Amino acid sequence: MLEDRHGGAATSPDVVSQYNRLNQLGAIDNLEALRLENRELDRLVTDAAALVALPSVPLMLDFVIDKALERFVPTFLAFVIEPPRGNRLSQFCYRNLKPSDETIPLDCYRRIKSRFLSKPFTERFDTILAETGEYPELEAFSPELVFPMRGIDGLYGIVVLGEKVVGDEYSEVETMYLDRLTRFLAVGLQNGLHHQSSITDAKTGLYNHEFFMRRLAEEQARCSRSGAQACILMLDVDRFKRFNDSHGHLAGDAALEALAATLKSTMRTGDAVGRFGGEEFCVLALDCDARGAMDAAERVRRSVESLRFSYDGQELSITVSLGIRMLDPGIDPKDLLDDADKALYASKSGGRNRSTLFRPGLLGRAELLRAADPNLCRP
Ligand code: GH3
Ligand code: MG
Ligand code: MG
Repeated sequence: MLEDRHGGAATSPDVVSQYNRLNQLGAIDNLEALRLENRELDRLVTDAAALVALPSVPLMLDFVIDKALERFVPTFLAFVIEPPRGNRLSQFCYRNLKPSDETIPLDCYRRIKSRFLSKPFTERFDTILAETGEYPELEAFSPELVFPMRGIDGLYGIVVLGEKVVGDEYSEVETMYLDRLTRFLAVGLQNGLHHQSSITDAKTGLYNHEFFMRRLAEEQARCSRSGAQACILMLDVDRFKRFNDSHGHLAGDAALEALAATLKSTMRTGDAVGRFGGEEFCVLALDCDARGAMDAAERVRRSVESLRFSYDGQELSITVSLGIRMLDPGIDPKDLLDDADKALYASKSGGRNRSTLFRPGLLGRAELLRAADPNLCRP
């Protein structure tokens, strides 16, 4: 109904006739459509800002699903993610919005991908079929729309949207919203990849020195607040120069990768594992006292000792020496690392393939000297 500026019914014949004229011309409907579009864009901007700030891929996907659900329920939804660098392809599929272990077959993905490389725009599945041939393997997914995820380095994957559970085809507004949100999802993935590469070491995927130091400072603060205990395990591969000389540098690289995987699987989920450079690694083990720290160090040492990896047809192995230092919020993190290094040095001098705990004070220093030289007389 036509209202005056105070919300009352407008009565002036002049105004009413002008309103009717505008209505006849379709301007009022247009205005309403523009208002709707504006609201939709406003929501998109808000949603996009929230999406790109999420810290992990699963959280980003949950977000997109939640937002899609506010508008429609698809029978099938799949996110196929393939970052341009690296060779990992991950799939997240949902049937009636419950996670499903179905997957888009790899060669279907490759064919669709090659189409998007030349025409990187959201497309109806029928059109893709007409352009690139049949996909009988995808029939069960009843795909209706396919969205490319484009990023700075090319295609980051695709989103496949199945038909709606109820209702007709997707409207233009729905398609447009998901198209835009998918673009922001690609930006989110891109940010995540860049962040990941800024905090990790390219060869092993472990945290780099800088990020490890950040985690160490955070953990010192947490221990100071809560009285929790934690420790640093510093480790170094034994006689690695000799290993490289005997088996070659590439075999050495394979050893470092195998060692990194063993470290990750031996430590608990919240622990931080970093590569300090070369063949030196550092682990931040949370919530353990001195005995727990020594147990963790020995667990690491033994699992590396029993690790076998093959390179160029040869079965190879390495050992590591460790130095352990309990965290102490009153001591500078660099000094803690220095102490761990002293304990590591004692393990090396004592014969390698062993663990030594740093204890502060004179007695501790004497213990280190003894560990470093097993021939020294014991009191
Ligand atoms: P120690 O038991 O005293 O630690 O002896 P070491 O031979 O391990 O120690 P040293 O510091 O003399 O040698 C370290 C070697 O690690 C030398 C270097 O070539 C090798 N290295 C460092 N980074 C890498 C890497 O990324 N790949 C390979 N293959 N070798 C590396
Ligand atoms: Mg070294
Ligand atoms: Mg070494």
